[in-house]
Amino acid sequence: MREIEKIYSFRRNESYDGEKFNFINFSSRLFNEIIVSIFFGVLLILIGVLRQNPAVAEWWTQTFSRAYLSFISIVTRYFPFSLTEIFAFSLGVIMVITVLLIIKHLTKKKWISSLNLFLKIVMVNLGLVSSYSLTCEFAYYRPAVSLPYYTETVTNDKFLEVHNYFANDFNDCIASLSFKSDGDVVRPMNVWQISESISQTYSSLISDPYFLNTYTIAKPMATSFIFRELQITGITFNVFGEANIDVLATNLELPFTIAHELAHTKCVMREDEANQVAFYICLNSDNPYVRFSAYSLYFYQLSMLTSKTYMVKEDREQLVKLDNNYYAARNYAYKYWKDHDLLGKIGDWINNMYIKSSGVPEGTTSYQGGTGSTVIVDEENPEKATLRSSKYQALFFEKYLRVKGGFNNE
Ligand SMILES: [Zn+2]
Repeated sequence: MREIEKIYSFRRNESYDGEKFNFINFSSRLFNEIIVSIFFGVLLILIGVLRQNPAVAEWWTQTFSRAYLSFISIVTRYFPFSLTEIFAFSLGVIMVITVLLIIKHLTKKKWISSLNLFLKIVMVNLGLVSSYSLTCEFAYYRPAVSLPYYTETVTNDKFLEVHNYFANDFNDCIASLSFKSDGDVVRPMNVWQISESISQTYSSLISDPYFLNTYTIAKPMATSFIFRELQITGITFNVFGEANIDVLATNLELPFTIAHELAHTKCVMREDEANQVAFYICLNSDNPYVRFSAYSLYFYQLSMLTSKTYMVKEDREQLVKLDNNYYAARNYAYKYWKDHDLLGKIGDWINNMYIKSSGVPEGTTSYQGGTGSTVIVDEENPEKATLRSSKYQALFFEKYLRVKGGFNNE
């Protein structure tokens, strides 16, 4: 009885008089949190070191990530809502409550209780980051993605036929779509249908085992109104194998965003490569709305080749003009994002930090990777120029040559 009374007194003392530091008390109450936090910390350091070897990164991606993502994407695709959002919201609420409890304990001078809760936050967050790293972050250090880029140099006498082939197809896509009076394109499919269409293109076009054959569906986010202000169009959270889409992004970019996020679920993690994969998928889709999205974002890569410097006057006169609906839709998208920029800088900062911490020093500028090209004009014969294609131009040429069987002008 005395022992029980003693413990009871101790507890009562703790409640009313604050905690006095005692090493045995301190170590026994914080032992688990400290050990688990150290475990996750060491694990993260180990991941950070090991993944820098591309062979290890590829091996891990092809074994653990492949097995895990194949399994989890099958499970989570049956939930018709974003589990990532529910998880993030619940975690946020728990964190806020815990921080409030820490403050309460601190005001009562319950130092060990406060430290215990703080270490619990550290432990949970390190555990979460470790889980995320294990599922997909090795993939940031994989060898380069293998798409069928056309790698030969192209002379400027081919620019017109390639430009006009895609300009005609772009105009056909536009003709099959409807546009609102403000310029925005009318979305002819919902997110699930776009996702399904893009997934089919992925499976018909890509057989390379570099791409994990996960069957993920893109899910609309209920909190899209927040992500719109953060100017974030999609978030892939591979712990749940989910591609979450900001459905309030403009209709013009929605198919491309879905293809980009689905590339991440196939462990194409670097942003420039996810963009190139998304472009390749959308450009080669049978669906005119999906192709419209690819053209709207990257047709400028062909327009770059039509300037006076690189294209002779006779060719320039034969250029197919793009439908005005394209320019209106582009202007609409530009204005739309200007009007929804409440938290844009914060969104960019978070994304930049995330990409840099994943091993890409360029941060958010890495989205632009592969867009640069060089045209070298022959000084002795100014009408002749040679193109070293950007990755996007190389994918335009690849499709052109696959469909047409060769350049006409040869
Ligand atoms: Zn991305």
